[in-house]
Amino acid sequence: MFELKIKNNFSAAHKLVMVGEKCENLHGHNWHIEARVIGEKLNPAGVLVDFGNIKKFVNEIMKELDHKYLNEIEIFNDEQPTSERIAVYIAQRLQMFLDELDEDVKVSSVTAWESEDASATYFL
Ligand SMILES: [Zn+2]
Repeated sequence: MFELKIKNNFSAAHKLVMVGEKCENLHGHNWHIEARVIGEKLNPAGVLVDFGNIKKFVNEIMKELDHKYLNEIEIFNDEQPTSERIAVYIAQRLQMFLDELDEDVKVSSVTAWESEDASATYFL
């Protein structure tokens, strides 16, 4: 089994009710994203999938989130835009992009770091 990992980041604002006093105020994060994809077979070029494709897809997803007030965008359907839900969204969206490729590769997990020492990972 092979695993490829790419990193990206975006900046956005959110507020979270019930999580803790500090989080209830509007605030921002520079989220660092790690997306991992896995597969068993290499393509004729000897790679699992072109890094360029994965980077392009994740870039598209970052554009949907960057410099947004996450509580007000449709992506989260009025649910709180926690790092956990950000990881879920990116994983599912990236899988949709991968489904359009004719490659034997799928998302394994996405990690959303909201600070240097705190992250949430979703395993698809
Ligand atoms: Zn926060």
